[in-house]
Amino acid sequence: MGEQNLVLLGPPGAGKGTQAKSLAAELELPHISTGDMLRDAVREGTPLGLKAKAVMEKGDLVSDELLTGIVKERLSRSDASKGFILDGYPRNIPQAEILEGIRKGLGREAVLALEIDVPDDAIVARLTNRRSCPECGSVYNLSSAPPKAEGRCDKCGAELVQRDDDREEVIRERLRVYHEKTEPLADYYRQRGLFKQVPGTGKPAEVLDAILKVLG
Ligand code: AMP
Repeated sequence: MGEQNLVLLGPPGAGKGTQAKSLAAELELPHISTGDMLRDAVREGTPLGLKAKAVMEKGDLVSDELLTGIVKERLSRSDASKGFILDGYPRNIPQAEILEGIRKGLGREAVLALEIDVPDDAIVARLTNRRSCPECGSVYNLSSAPPKAEGRCDKCGAELVQRDDDREEVIRERLRVYHEKTEPLADYYRQRGLFKQVPGTGKPAEVLDAILKVLG
């Protein structure tokens, strides 16, 4: 079998991160989240993090140029040679074109875009209840998937946090940016015959089953 180069699409809070983690384990491929990489950079105070911080806090997109280098470097690593699961990249048509350039430059096969479809009204409720572990990246939902001990990560015991950009006014801005910039990627990939979609409103295990089914 060839490479399995996957791009997860869908609004913020669709479950891309959760599904990417499960798929990474199932398919033995690296989960590459540009949001996680940027949050790490912000926490570490690197030059990239210093440039990205204020933009992320507003719910806007970081400039394409800032992302190109980190994505290219990450996709070049040996653990991504059989495939990868991109989560949060590309976020707009220019980034999709940049990704095409990177993948061709590395001599890699085409990507397949997989959209997790969740309506807007479900997103706000989900994201205001989202908590995550700053240590291991596990994600919880206070109403549908709470941790066993309040405020603590089940896996590593660290104190759970709410992302700075998971406040309601920022969520609305992220959804606006999603519809304007990211949603057109569905047509971009559909026109190239590189698009699949699954409903994302079910339980995580059901969504994963649906994804594995469309991947064949
Ligand atoms: P995420 O965790 O994917 O929701 O990303 C969190 C934030 O990081 C986004 O709201 C953006 O500000 C920024 N970000 C992540 N990925 C990208 C990207 N591909 N292009 C621009 N900004 C991004």
